[in-house]
Amino acid sequence: MKPRNKTERLVAELSAKLPAITEKQKQWAKDTCFEKIGYYNKGEVWCMNCGMVHEKTVSPLGIDLVGDETVCPHCGTHLKLKNSRKRKSIERWYFTIATTYRGFQVFRHFIIERQMYKMSGNISKGYEPYFSINEAVQNWISEDGKEYIMARPCRPMAWVYDAWDFCKPMSIKDKVNGRYSYSPDKYDICSEFIYPVRGLIPKLKRNGFTFRCKGISVNRLAAMLLTDNEAEMLIKTKQYNLLYAKSIRGIPQDVKPSINICNRNAYRVKDASMWIDYIQMLLHFNMDTHNAKYVCPANLKKEHDKLLKRMNREEARQREIDKMREALGWEKTYAQEKGRFFGICFGNEDIVITVIQSVAEMVEEGEAMHHCVYACGYYKKKESLILSAKDKEGNRIETIELSLRTFTIVQSRGVCNSITPMHNEIIELVNKNINLIKKVA
Ligand SMILES: [Zn+2]
Repeated sequence: MKPRNKTERLVAELSAKLPAITEKQKQWAKDTCFEKIGYYNKGEVWCMNCGMVHEKTVSPLGIDLVGDETVCPHCGTHLKLKNSRKRKSIERWYFTIATTYRGFQVFRHFIIERQMYKMSGNISKGYEPYFSINEAVQNWISEDGKEYIMARPCRPMAWVYDAWDFCKPMSIKDKVNGRYSYSPDKYDICSEFIYPVRGLIPKLKRNGFTFRCKGISVNRLAAMLLTDNEAEMLIKTKQYNLLYAKSIRGIPQDVKPSINICNRNAYRVKDASMWIDYIQMLLHFNMDTHNAKYVCPANLKKEHDKLLKRMNREEARQREIDKMREALGWEKTYAQEKGRFFGICFGNEDIVITVIQSVAEMVEEGEAMHHCVYACGYYKKKESLILSAKDKEGNRIETIELSLRTFTIVQSRGVCNSITPMHNEIIELVNKNINLIKKVA
């Protein structure tokens, strides 16, 4: 992309003048970025530091070598052993150099690639590793927190988003997302390895910039710190987790006052998303979000789960109420559709069966019997008639659903959908009196 304005032109120009990476920096990357491991196979250890092979016998029981250590006789490196028959190893890592240039904060991201090969024979032969180091991306951040990107183009490979083409020169790039976007893009690089000699512009130093903030790429953190007082407050109070949450999806406005309470009580939030959830539940229940007793719980998970349970109970209750309200709205329709059956009543010396005469009665029936007769909306079903079987004392025994199309019993259930000892008797009674229903249907 061509620079589109004065600052972009300046950045492109300055970028070309940046010093090349030094031998010392290269050596540091070679020494730091790769795990010191030895691949063990059939009595041989292939050193992943110098590439040489040495013999090592292990006891027959020592089959699982993971976690074992050995010292390479060629380079003297302590190696963590791993079982592997690998004969080829290619590893790539990002590392970052932080520097300043003409008032800009610059983060230079390099890729170090190491290729290693081993030849098998009677005694395997190893080769010295081959390294290549190339610069992929530079984040240029001006003092007012604006970010400019210089980067290589990427080769179009569907399965790798950062296949930088090191044969092509760096040029100004557009960020796909805004600075406070939800997902970091390929120019936001969180490298694990940052060269220990670091340059920072004074304003960043003053605002508390640190490389210890995990999860946020250095360029995003720098831009945040230069433009946002809240970010500065969070980093200075070591609320790294809240800062991370802020960089990902922001912190809700109504939660913010509680952060001050945390800071006043030297309470560090460890799980920001859970804590934010928790504070929002406190707010929901009108609990005091300025009180350290609530805001800074010793056991966040426990308090969070307690409120969550309460929240779920409340929601369930609300759903119940909504459902009931909806059900009662059907009262008129129900009376119109089923009114002609309302007088029907039959039974024997033990059982009385009646047609349920209103939605309210159905709600009552459902609650008493702990089944879904109203929750499932049977009052809406044109084709079913709901009857209630009670004993002589008026206690509910079973609820019966009858099909008005076929005049057969669809189901008859007792408490919690059980089948009662009187089930067969009830079925028989309904079938015997089905004509009473047919007559008015
Ligand atoms: Zn070695």
